[in-house]
Amino acid sequence: MRPLFFALALLAVPGCGHAAAPSRSAPPRAAEEMRALLTELIAVDTSNPPGNETAAAEVAARWLREAGIESQLFEPVPGRAHLIARLKGTGGARPVLVLAHLDTVPARREEWASDPWVLTERDGFLYGRGVQDNKGMAAASVLALRRLTSDKVKLKRDVVLVLSADEEAGGKAGIDKLLEHHPELREAELAINEGGLTELSEDRSRVRFVNLQAAERVSRNVTLKATGPGGHSSVPPAAPNPMVRLAAAVARVGSLTFPTRLTPVTRLNVEGRVKVTGGELGEALKRLAASPDSPPQEAVDAIARLEPALAAVLRTTCVPTVFNAGTRPNVIPATAEATINCRLLPDEDIQAFRARLVEAVADKDIQVELNMTPPDSPASPVGDNAMFRAATAAAKKVWPGAPVFPRMSTGTTESTELRRAGIHAYGIDLFALTPDDARTAHAPNERIPSASLQPGAEFVYQLLSELAK
Ligand SMILES: [Zn+2]
Repeated sequence: MRPLFFALALLAVPGCGHAAAPSRSAPPRAAEEMRALLTELIAVDTSNPPGNETAAAEVAARWLREAGIESQLFEPVPGRAHLIARLKGTGGARPVLVLAHLDTVPARREEWASDPWVLTERDGFLYGRGVQDNKGMAAASVLALRRLTSDKVKLKRDVVLVLSADEEAGGKAGIDKLLEHHPELREAELAINEGGLTELSEDRSRVRFVNLQAAERVSRNVTLKATGPGGHSSVPPAAPNPMVRLAAAVARVGSLTFPTRLTPVTRLNVEGRVKVTGGELGEALKRLAASPDSPPQEAVDAIARLEPALAAVLRTTCVPTVFNAGTRPNVIPATAEATINCRLLPDEDIQAFRARLVEAVADKDIQVELNMTPPDSPASPVGDNAMFRAATAAAKKVWPGAPVFPRMSTGTTESTELRRAGIHAYGIDLFALTPDDARTAHAPNERIPSASLQPGAEFVYQLLSELAK
């Protein structure tokens, strides 16, 4: 289907009478608003596919309009809107974008203890599809714009809110379409997005650290393809069965290990983690930090065992995920295919990467197909810069004592496209979560601790005010 392009402007009615002025600072009121908006956003089922983000964007547009903030919707595909709203600054610095996606992964009602599309509080947690990923950030960002407006904060730069569509499936209605049709968004200097990590201790007594995501690995699918004459299974062929050859190659690729390499962002992450991590993991991190240029294998192995997500960013990884071969029990297939999902370090040499895969496949009759364009996912600057200073100041107010340092994420976010557009994007995690809480994203019973809700909204507000003041 040919996508339709049109923009719908929702004009603000200045001084629109009934709209209650958002609170200046009163936490009870702010907490109520955060819960109310999040409830409304979660009630709109934006499972992708099909997405249906327009309905959620309209909820956000109404909350903005009630505070006198104009927004517009861009619908690259009918029903799949992105929302853009802009608070004007004095032009003293280039704009900052705050980005959150409105679509979610699907949910199956029968796998959940409560309705995924009803924000439900139970035993100190808030449950709902998208509460973490990423409607919590969407709600907090809308409320931050309302509060910047009602507090009459003088902004040195424009604050631009983008609530995006089609992040989870990365299809035709995604952020690249938005950037193509709204090139003015590329003028932004900085962006905040999902992808960070604010880790709550297991006993939920304190925030251990606040990570800004400054780089991410690049997802690349590799297809392995074997072919043969096929035939009747009652007569085993002289030529090898493509399915058997392919299975052997997949087994070899499955056990392939790429070299460990600490990128500059990962080095800073490991150094930061050493200071706040005890026990066996802390010891392994210490040994890794002491020798970042030749990481000790036993330290890497210990980290892989104790914290697989941290080990994942120490190297490029490849995992076989799909087999496609055979149609009938009595037919030898003429073709067999397998998909290997690889996550490349952002500066991976694509030629060397392919050569290593071909070597592991070790069968010249198996085709190895992949997109050979370089990963092109530049890291955002790390160190003493505007974003880290702002995040440190905001974290000090919301989670005193928690150090702020960068991370590279295992997976991919829309920050890849922003970075390619020249915008320095950083992922935040507005909600303090234990690793167990964090694992519920994309899973049944997605949750956040109730106590993390309001501090999360406050962090987004404080961060934007720091960046724009
Ligand atoms: Zn997400």
